[in-house]
Amino acid sequence: MRIDVVTIFPDYLAALDLSLVGKARRAGLLDLRVHDLRDWTDDRHRTVDDTPFGGGAGMVMRPDVWGRALDDLLPADGPARLVVPSPSGEVFTQRRAEALATEEHLVVACGRYEGIDARVVEHYRDRGVAVDELSLGDYVLNGGEVAALVMVEAVGRLLPGVVGNPHSLVEESHGEAGLLEYPVYTKPPVWQGREVPDVLLSGHHARIERWRRDEALRRTARRRPDMIAALGEDALDRRDREV
Ligand code: SAM
Repeated sequence: MRIDVVTIFPDYLAALDLSLVGKARRAGLLDLRVHDLRDWTDDRHRTVDDTPFGGGAGMVMRPDVWGRALDDLLPADGPARLVVPSPSGEVFTQRRAEALATEEHLVVACGRYEGIDARVVEHYRDRGVAVDELSLGDYVLNGGEVAALVMVEAVGRLLPGVVGNPHSLVEESHGEAGLLEYPVYTKPPVWQGREVPDVLLSGHHARIERWRRDEALRRTARRRPDMIAALGEDALDRRDREV
């Protein structure tokens, strides 16, 4: 998969050289390219913003600069998808990450200031480009870079070969089961007087599985009742309903 990230702060994305995403890049599983939007400016000051029409606070990112950048990065007949982080976008979820992980090419356009001139998204949609305006959540960040980091990491770890044991993706929070993950423990078996639940030391796989499922259900019901409410009719068996 190829991902192009366009930003006025390319250094912000340096963290993507680390950890699993960095390893995936070096292994050739993820072709990640970070671009400086100012490379597409045409004035001495490398200006990317201007005052908003209609007045008001702040600055808006210019469509002509973004247009030149995106024309270069979005092939006219290619399969690229444009991702625009925005607090007014649809919420970025694990389902969205899974869908994006099936794409061949993503271009992520990081806004700053009051955001990108609205004609940019309209123009590329009209040109037939698939565009997702995606929000990390109901709060406002200073720029799209943190959102790009989140999205690249969430999508990147789903690419085949990136996470060593693919089974660890199956049981995770927000996975296929639609639940939060059960609590996890490691050595030592007693810490600060707190013991690891006996069942996990029993070696009895079926009982461990049942305990984990029960804990996942309890935790989800307590913390995210909305997720329980969203489960399909056949997602819970009789035993689940007793938890
Ligand atoms: N004026 C905009 C508004 O009220 O909707 C906020 C602009 S914000 C200061 C600048 C940039 O940060 C946005 O263009 C977007 O790229 C990014 N951003 C801010 N909050 C975000 C969020 N919750 N999710 C994704 N991106 C966000």
